[in-house]
Amino acid sequence: MANIIDGKAVSAKVKEQVRIETEALIQKHGIQPGLAVVIVGNDPASRVYVNNKKKACEAVGFKSFEYALPEETTQEELLELVDTLNKDKNVNGILVQLPVPKQIDDKAIINAIAAEKDVDAFHPENVGRIMIGEYSFLPCTPAGAMELIDSTGVEIAGKNCVVIGRSNIVGKPMAMLLLHRSGTVTICHSKTQNLAEVTRQADILVAAVGRANFVTGDMVKEGAVVIDVGINRLDNGKLCGDVNYAEVEPKASWITPVPGGVGPMTIAMLMRNTLTAAKAQNGIQD
Ligand code: NAD
Repeated sequence: MANIIDGKAVSAKVKEQVRIETEALIQKHGIQPGLAVVIVGNDPASRVYVNNKKKACEAVGFKSFEYALPEETTQEELLELVDTLNKDKNVNGILVQLPVPKQIDDKAIINAIAAEKDVDAFHPENVGRIMIGEYSFLPCTPAGAMELIDSTGVEIAGKNCVVIGRSNIVGKPMAMLLLHRSGTVTICHSKTQNLAEVTRQADILVAAVGRANFVTGDMVKEGAVVIDVGINRLDNGKLCGDVNYAEVEPKASWITPVPGGVGPMTIAMLMRNTLTAAKAQNGIQD
């Protein structure tokens, strides 16, 4: 029987810490962090994410600026808005909700966001900083997954860590963060052969595949820490992770549920990044 890693509780702690630090920042320095969230088009899932980010901003005491642009927005129009936000002193963090409609090149948008306001940490400068371990922000989902591993008290150094998935927003940075903490890291992907053999070596297994119930019991070592990043919607409307929870839970020592695991951490880490950005942009160290 695994211990359940409670993402809701850990994320609540992170947000409470951000709220306390924000209050102090406002009182001592008169600075209230501001996050601009831009959404283009009518994707219902994106709409939900943006609303949740707005609510989280309010809860920690940030200013939140929302820009809801129509589906037919051109790349030039979006770039113009990003440029305006880059120059706006009230805006410390800028997030353009992905995916954007197909007439817009998401890379061009990410590259246009000022690196110091790139609270998603997707800009090539921030990605490069993560590679060399000199980062100001970490991408929110892998950073949240690291917080959850740390909440277990399990030491990462020297452990076999296997990440399934090599995307730029989850798999690759996750692997790099585990490496920075001296894990022995293997990245698996769609071309990996004998996947189960590799994953069975993992003391810490992170699944970021995007396929419901992909990680089955036979793929997991007895006593492993299992972090499920996947969010998949089943035909019955329910959310489900990449890990077959019923099969894996009895073998794992620690496991994240879906929902209620990594998901809530992503927004909490976004709040932390925005606070960090506000302090850095105002030359505040504490
Ligand atoms: P992605 O589609 O960009 O990447 C999926 C990765 O899985 C790829 O690198 C691919 O090589 C690998 N893969 C696919 N089939 C495989 C197979 N048969 N064997 C081994 N590897 C295989 O997805 P992503 O953006 O990295 O997201 C992954 C999952 O995490 C999705 O379910 C997504 O919804 C979820 N996600 C959750 C959060 C959160 O806040 N919790 C944030 C981002 C993404």
